[in-house]
Amino acid sequence: MKPTQMHRSNSTTLSHLFARLAIGCLIAGQVFASEPVPGGIYQYHVPPGVAKVTYNGKPVLVYGQHALVGIPVKAKPGPSKLELVFTDNSTLEHKFEIKHKDYPEQHLTIKNKKMVNPDPENIARINKEARTMRAAYGAFNASQGDPKPFVQPVDGVITSPFGRRRVLNGQPRSPHSGLDIAGATGTPIHAPAPAKVAVTGDFYFNGNTVLLDHGEGLVSMYCHLSEIQVAPGERIERGGQIGLVGATGRVTGPHLHWSVSLNGNRVDPATLMEILAADAVPETNSN
Ligand SMILES: [Zn+2]
Repeated sequence: MKPTQMHRSNSTTLSHLFARLAIGCLIAGQVFASEPVPGGIYQYHVPPGVAKVTYNGKPVLVYGQHALVGIPVKAKPGPSKLELVFTDNSTLEHKFEIKHKDYPEQHLTIKNKKMVNPDPENIARINKEARTMRAAYGAFNASQGDPKPFVQPVDGVITSPFGRRRVLNGQPRSPHSGLDIAGATGTPIHAPAPAKVAVTGDFYFNGNTVLLDHGEGLVSMYCHLSEIQVAPGERIERGGQIGLVGATGRVTGPHLHWSVSLNGNRVDPATLMEILAADAVPETNSN
């Protein structure tokens, strides 16, 4: 009988045996908020002795005993994996399956054509702003404090969910990278969890924008503000006011566009709020 093939670099230790047991038990027949779907969050119970969990070469947030892995909204359904690095530097692969998810399509008409097809002189500005946002989303800094509970920043109705595939004036665009919360201009916006202010600015599409770094690759973004009330580098507590709802940038009316990113991938903020709700019990994919 052949020994089980594992992607290992060192000899078997007790922690690895635990890891094998943990990895051998799969979720069966249950639907969780954290299903590994494009734009979703894969919640993985980390076995003992693991120092670091990476996905697509990037470290992921580990909260308590769970890794919260952001799956790119453009990920193809099919096999995927995490890499576990143990305290003794040995490694192990954890395989999982990205499942299919259908997001609805929405057709929008925007009268200001410059906002649909920007002038060439604005493209340099847009690209620069995209680099600034990507850098903030790609950071992996120390935790700013307990991300639980992760609280909705404005009390209001969600008018546009995450992932909607949008067609602007007949032209297909990237899926909606956050969720929109209705709110009158001037409504206060509160930080969902402790954070350091990473970026503030007036962006072409997003208008007045704030990016908060909660640490360990968890970053959130607030757009179209009428007023920004924080500065880069500032530390902010859960519930701290960061600005006011507005209608700056590419909008059809005042609302908050809220994006949340894990390990560099925009994920559904509603899923993260559910996983990190005050009364949420961590699910187990192992025992
Ligand atoms: Zn939006």
